[in-house]
Amino acid sequence: MRVFVILPAAGLGTRMAAGNGAPGAPKQFLELRSTPILIHTLRAFLRLPSVAGVYIAVRKPEVARLEALLQAHAIGGADSTPPVHIIEGGDTRQQSVAHALAAVAGGEDDIVLVHDAVRPLVPEAVIARTIEAVERHGAAIVAVPAVDTIKQVERTAHGAIITATIPREHVVLAQTPQGFRLGLLRRAFAEAEADGFVGTDESSIVERAGLQVAVVPGTPENLKITQQGDLDLAEFFLAQREKARG
Ligand code: C5P
Repeated sequence: MRVFVILPAAGLGTRMAAGNGAPGAPKQFLELRSTPILIHTLRAFLRLPSVAGVYIAVRKPEVARLEALLQAHAIGGADSTPPVHIIEGGDTRQQSVAHALAAVAGGEDDIVLVHDAVRPLVPEAVIARTIEAVERHGAAIVAVPAVDTIKQVERTAHGAIITATIPREHVVLAQTPQGFRLGLLRRAFAEAEADGFVGTDESSIVERAGLQVAVVPGTPENLKITQQGDLDLAEFFLAQREKARG
């Protein structure tokens, strides 16, 4: 069994104001401890011996920049072990993943993990847990319990009004990795494309195809960097990791 990793990194990062890193940089290229977030993310997966290949989707204008970055950090190239491939992303995350999925050189039963490029601190144990659950169930995602009460709302001109309260025990917040047998994910993506369905994560595409998706526990450390405060929090988690290592 081989594990392939897709890192969608073709987002424009419009929610993050310029600050750390190049002005207006998409957040996956912002720096955390002088290293771009995407490189931290990539390293988290390259550490695992079962990873047989990584596919990073970026916007066309970012391809040369990513090539230079990989070289500067002595990572990859298509001849390296495991090979690191750069793929041209699309206008939606789903399109970016679909482009990478088309390039994955694996068999039906191999495993593919899709992980947000902007979740650089994913712990090794979380990745291992996802792979184990995919081996058992065919599809599994990482998620954390909801600690806040969840309200369903209808948007209005002045904000929103509540239409329902969703019992917290029935809710989890999806993180990544989201892992699947390669054949299963390809079939679900083909169905979604044929029907014009666009989902915000891979699981929604697989759920829609009528397949069961297992949930494994994530961690607060596996945060998605979307705002400046998230970068500060990531710095804090990194410092804690260093302290724990001694
Ligand atoms: O914007 P969102 O929070 O969904 O981004 C999650 C991940 O998907 C990010 O790593 C982002 O770079 C990626 N993405 C992508 N192609 C897009 C939009 C987002 O690869 N068109």
